[in-house]
Amino acid sequence: MGDQLVVLAIKSTFFEFLSNNHRQPSINEILKKLTSVLKRELCIKDAIFYSYNKQLDYLTPAFKDRGYPVKAVPDDLQYGKLYFFEEQAFIPIIQNDTLHGLVELKGLNISKFSSASLDEVVKSCSSFFAHSLNLVQITLNEQKFKQLYRLTEKFHSFMNKDDVLSELVTTLQSMFFEYNFYLFLSHDHENHLDLPIKDLGFDHQDGNEMAMEAFVTGNAQRSFDKKNRQMIVYIPLKGKQGVYGVLQVVANHGLQIEDENVNFVAMLANAAGTALENAQLYEQSKRLIKDLQLINETSHRLNKNLRLTDTMTYMSLRILNSFKADEVGFFYINQNGSIQIFPGSTNFFNTEEVMIYIQYVREKIEKDLEGLFIGDITTYLKDLPYSSVMAVPMVQSENLKGCALVLHKDPYHFSFDMFKLLQSLIHHSTLALTNSLLREELETLVKTDHLTQLFSRNYFNDFIGSSMQKDRQGTFVLIDIDNFKKVNDTYGHQVGDEVLVQVANIIKSNIRENDVGARWGGEELAVYLPQVDLASGISVAERIVKRVRENTNPMITISCGVSYWNAEIDKNFHQLFSKADKALYIAKNEGKNQVIVQV
Ligand code: GH3
Ligand code: MG
Ligand code: MG
Repeated sequence: MGDQLVVLAIKSTFFEFLSNNHRQPSINEILKKLTSVLKRELCIKDAIFYSYNKQLDYLTPAFKDRGYPVKAVPDDLQYGKLYFFEEQAFIPIIQNDTLHGLVELKGLNISKFSSASLDEVVKSCSSFFAHSLNLVQITLNEQKFKQLYRLTEKFHSFMNKDDVLSELVTTLQSMFFEYNFYLFLSHDHENHLDLPIKDLGFDHQDGNEMAMEAFVTGNAQRSFDKKNRQMIVYIPLKGKQGVYGVLQVVANHGLQIEDENVNFVAMLANAAGTALENAQLYEQSKRLIKDLQLINETSHRLNKNLRLTDTMTYMSLRILNSFKADEVGFFYINQNGSIQIFPGSTNFFNTEEVMIYIQYVREKIEKDLEGLFIGDITTYLKDLPYSSVMAVPMVQSENLKGCALVLHKDPYHFSFDMFKLLQSLIHHSTLALTNSLLREELETLVKTDHLTQLFSRNYFNDFIGSSMQKDRQGTFVLIDIDNFKKVNDTYGHQVGDEVLVQVANIIKSNIRENDVGARWGGEELAVYLPQVDLASGISVAERIVKRVRENTNPMITISCGVSYWNAEIDKNFHQLFSKADKALYIAKNEGKNQVIVQV
């Protein structure tokens, strides 16, 4: 009868402990409770717990120290039954067929208890232990999931991959101090981080094969490092569209990595993967926008019909800046096959050495009209000053027109993304480039200027030359539109062109048939009046200045520099021009919208 009371006392103490313990009890507290209750209620000298390690199949060393054999766990242990070893009674603590340990009952007087009561006590101990362990597990899980939630939320506030990675590693390391965490990332990751990062690749670095397997399959991999007796798990950082790296979890010597922990770490890794993906998309879209801006600005600029030199200089500068290149140049393949370097190319393109690059590149691109992306050209051609090479052909109507060549001293300086950007940049500009090239070629051939329908400069020069041969005198007027840049900037290039046409028309209607008006270049126009004396020439110029002021829309003014020649004055075309130029210069300096003469 008395032994039933003992059973009841033990059970109710256990129950009380479990139901009152709202905070998380530690394993130590649980064991302390277990042994102290047994000691008190069974009136024994002592109760000692020996924990059992499933992986290593041994009981705590203390068990052996007390003279019990090392391999002391017999196969005939039974749930709910006392176990005896050389007269000594033990309570096996078993949960779900798993042995957790033995409680040694020192000085137990068995005769005082019925075997049913003893069985009852033994069962209560196991069930107490199982329940407490569940309690521990639940609280631990709850804490972990809170952490997971907090971290996931935090991840998504990051726009930067590095932030995600460092948060992941530091959090994991603080949660699982018995494991060490490493990251396997692909080579192209720019590592500015103070994190344990290893290169993911096919080399034979430790663990790389398994990491690669996890990376490729997207599934966690386990391995065991026999030398260091370390368990290792590889967990992919998975997003929705791909795997961004692999997390390596290395357990401290001799420790197990439970499935449950692997699952938890995998959940964190997935959250990190998604966040990495977002950050990557964000970085990509930022870069894409920048690239588009560059292409947009450049084509805009090119479509302004600038002179070829302006265009090419602008392109070179943009490429130098955007790609942090050392040299940028453009070459053109003439109809007869010879190479011509475009203006605006950097200095290296004026040297002999550049021809080695040009010949190499030309040979390749003439075959397939594809661009070249070379990390280190010095592996093919020795002793060259620039190792990194990007070459993009300018192709129009399937004909190779020329090529852009971008160089850098260091090998592997350019990224593939840069190459793609260069390709689309050149692709978008080829038409404008070849157009302005053609335009300039044509201009030298053609008699009239396309835009203004005035004579071309070539024809004009020839005309003055022959007038100087056969006539006695002549007046030359050089005209420049005042503040024309502002017109372009305010109204756009199109309106600028229209203004230019308006001025040309005013000129045409204010000179006689024998006189010639010409497009001198850009927004500079010129008039030559054969057989006309200086005074009449000046009045023609002044009339034009007045009419332009009165009849242009948007209203603009012009400045004129006038010069004159006759038999007494040297018959020299260059002098005639430079005097007019000087006069124009003075007109500009002294307030514009006027005529100045230099004889
Ligand atoms: P200034 O009074 O000193 O002459 O000032 P400006 O603004 O006219 O300066 P400048 O002569 O140095 O610059 C001329 C500008 O005219 C630069 C160029 O972009 C523009 N331009 C040249 N050719 C053309 C053209 O054919 N069409 C248009 N729309 N603009 C041109
Ligand atoms: Mg000018
Ligand atoms: Mg001007």
